[in-house]
Amino acid sequence: MPDHAEPSIFTRIIDREIPADVVFESERLIAIRDIAPKAPVHLLVIPKDPQFRDVVELAAGDPELLAEMVAAAATLAEEHCGGQFRLVFNTGTDAGQTVFHVHAHIMGGGLTEGSLG
Ligand code: ADP
Repeated sequence: MPDHAEPSIFTRIIDREIPADVVFESERLIAIRDIAPKAPVHLLVIPKDPQFRDVVELAAGDPELLAEMVAAAATLAEEHCGGQFRLVFNTGTDAGQTVFHVHAHIMGGGLTEGSLG
């Protein structure tokens, strides 16, 4: 993260500056319930390291961490929605990304056409 940038909302959650419903935490990841769910189950998996803005940067810079996110998403989906899920990485403002600290949306539990993260 550049020195001048404000910490993202997710960094503030990771640092326990603001509350969230934490459903999983490991050395490098945290998972929370999305505050504005767009599916019956809507979780976010977030690397604690804020240096990657989106999944393209993450895949280039730390593919193992991306694989760790996918594995955590699969485990969480087993626990929360029977193992079937949509995994969404909004990438860029035109695609609906609002928080530039990479995160994966896990959505499941009965999806509608509108639930695209
Ligand atoms: P979008 O807002 O279009 O979904 P992103 O892909 O950047 O864009 O996703 C950010 C997600 O973070 C949103 O789904 C939003 O509801 C969620 N969110 C924002 N603030 C919080 C918070 N304090 N706790 C949990 N989820 C949050």
